[in-house]
Amino acid sequence: MVRALEWGGVKFDEGPTIGGPHEPYQQSKRLDIYSKHADTLLEHGHAYRCFCSSERLALVRLEAQKTGRTASYDRKCSYLSKEESQERVDKGESYVVRMKVPDGKTIVQDEVHGKVEFSNKEVDDSVLMKSDGFPTYHLANVVDDHLMGITHVIRGQVLLRELSVCYASNNWIGSLSLTTILTVSIGMASIRTKARSTLQDVWMGHSKICSCAFAAQP
Ligand SMILES: [Zn+2]
Repeated sequence: MVRALEWGGVKFDEGPTIGGPHEPYQQSKRLDIYSKHADTLLEHGHAYRCFCSSERLALVRLEAQKTGRTASYDRKCSYLSKEESQERVDKGESYVVRMKVPDGKTIVQDEVHGKVEFSNKEVDDSVLMKSDGFPTYHLANVVDDHLMGITHVIRGQVLLRELSVCYASNNWIGSLSLTTILTVSIGMASIRTKARSTLQDVWMGHSKICSCAFAAQP
């Protein structure tokens, strides 16, 4: 990202290499912060532990493709009681933490598309924390944006739904208001491929910027 910003002639106010009030800036040094937020989400029922094996997940994904279901995970582990879940942790079973997408719909203000409304049924229970204790992009960027006082967020359109639900689960859309957290679509839908990694590679290759967030000056 630093190289990409330098390439674009963008000088940043704070971040890795120059420091600032929100250190540390490297996500690998912020694992305790993400872990704490994942625990809070678990505690409040906005997330759950998933113990499914990679073999089972592959079968579930295949089934979802066959039936045309948008969300690929079948939420099996969301039905475990807190006691059952804790028992399996105590036994040393490996798990990931998944976002528990609530029923209903999400409404978010998008600076390009205006008011965007979608059914939460279209959103997968994304993994927030991996089994090795590292956060996924979904959790880390939302936590960082919030703690670093980010007011405007620019993300690829493919992430609009999952990230909006993640902000809402943390109750951060309401606390910062929709006028300060904005998800801006950057036209990636025009690239006709569904492979997210390919999209990001293409985006990186052509514009040198894959995603960025910034805080507006008061
Ligand atoms: Zn599971």
